Amino acid sequence: MSDSQIDRIRSAGTVPLFIDGEFVDSRTTDWIELSNPATQDVIAQVPVATDDEMTRAVASARVAFREWRDVPTIERVRYLFRYQALLKEHQQAIAAVLSEETGKTFADAMGDVWRGIEVVEHGCGMTTHMMGETTENVARNIDTHSYVHPIGVCAGITPFNFPAMIPLWMYPLAVACGNAFILKPSEQDPLTPTMLTELFAQAGFPKGLLQVLHGDKRQVDFLLDHPDVRAVSFVGSVPVAEHVYRRGTDNLKRVQAMAGAKNHMIVMPDADKAQVVSALVGSSCGAAGQRCMAISVAVLVGEATRDWVDDIEAALADIRPGAPGDDGAAYGPLINRKARDRVREIIRGAAAEGADVRLDGADCVVEGYPDGNWIGPTLFDNVTTGMRVYQEEIFGPALCVIHVDTLEEAIELVNANPYGNGTSIFTRSGAAARKYQHETEVGQVGINVPIPVPAPFFSFTGSKHSFFGDLHAYGKQAVRFYTETKTVLSRWPETDVPDGPNMTINMK
Ligand code: NAD
Repeated sequence: MSDSQIDRIRSAGTVPLFIDGEFVDSRTTDWIELSNPATQDVIAQVPVATDDEMTRAVASARVAFREWRDVPTIERVRYLFRYQALLKEHQQAIAAVLSEETGKTFADAMGDVWRGIEVVEHGCGMTTHMMGETTENVARNIDTHSYVHPIGVCAGITPFNFPAMIPLWMYPLAVACGNAFILKPSEQDPLTPTMLTELFAQAGFPKGLLQVLHGDKRQVDFLLDHPDVRAVSFVGSVPVAEHVYRRGTDNLKRVQAMAGAKNHMIVMPDADKAQVVSALVGSSCGAAGQRCMAISVAVLVGEATRDWVDDIEAALADIRPGAPGDDGAAYGPLINRKARDRVREIIRGAAAEGADVRLDGADCVVEGYPDGNWIGPTLFDNVTTGMRVYQEEIFGPALCVIHVDTLEEAIELVNANPYGNGTSIFTRSGAAARKYQHETEVGQVGINVPIPVPAPFFSFTGSKHSFFGDLHAYGKQAVRFYTETKTVLSRWPETDVPDGPNMTINMK
């Protein structure tokens, strides 16, 4: 990338803000240290944006919105086409930086960028989604048509675990709908969003349409309270999602808040054992288990599956974490020390609660990287619902196994869980799959697919405590979230003479 902001960050040692179409150095005195999760080497300092910087960003976004809303949608999407091409061209460079700051394997980092590019591609079809509805003669000589309008300045707050995909769930669609957008990415991996922003500017979008502000709770609360921010998209942990939803809606904003999870895979005795084992390894430990759609509970149904735990254990014992660039690594380190220490504590407490700890990754060591945030593959058998390992989202490479006798019992277990992000069933029986898909109270269901993340023309439909709001991320629901509808009733009488005042609400 020419004039790369990443080069600038490496030489200056600080991450810039992006305000009013320019990358700027923050005037803050408050900085957050960003370090490499495999080594603890300091990568850069991340600014905690000042109130003045936040205020300027919102004001600039408001000005940009006023012009952008009148740009025809077909012209708006031409910028998106250019953006999509630039993202594809630089996918590898973005993935390399993403991998460095998150610790993800390069292949996984490429996937993170790619799933975001797909959302931009979906946004390129916005002309059709921005079409309203029309009916002639709703009453005699009266026609009704509706228009889809952008709502104004929108904001997005994103988590650390998908620093490319999740920002790309938000601003490309919001902007394609005619809005301006303020992004507050995770302070734990701000380099990837900086690259996405640089390419956004290179795509030629008018200045001010996208602003990027770094920080933490204070910056989020500023956006939640600012009267000129009309809608807030949030993705992150459950307590923060609840806070964002309550504070944002209390301020009469539209809010969609995607939150944490505990995802179950139901394993029926007629399933293909090899497929099940492989799917469980990838979906529990991929990205070090730091995915909101990770499978963290395997529910083995029936006596015949009881000893499948041996195969799961053998397959998990066969993988190991490693630093980016290590081709033999299945996944990377946890994002930071605090996260690693929390997962270690959960693992160490599991046996005392009665779990059968088949694999204990708490003391994992990776040669050459003594300071990495490593957790080895971890397997708990005979887990019950009262244990901490079941109740909390571990967000590490750890799998719980629960044994039940019947599919009905499995459904009851899943439905009693407060979260509803994702679930899957592995079976050869259409009847069992159909029953599970129908009766499970979870928003995204995979049938012989471990991680059922919908493509961007659908929406990301987590439910229960995994989602607060009405309209979900991306797909048609995102278009409804980032727009409002105006309905026009019109009459063009052939004579000027009205037939007397209408004193009712009926149309005549
Ligand atoms: P997090 O909640 O700690 O942080 C998310 C964002 O909120 C960050 O930008 C952070 O700066 C900000 N933030 C943190 N504390 C805050 C506070 N007290 N008040 C206001 N803002 C605050 O989440 P994380 O650790 O970055 O991400 C992991 C979590 O995100 C997991 O729980 C995971 O399941 C969830 N997640 C959910 C989805 C989904 O679509 N449902 C997708 C990805 C991640």
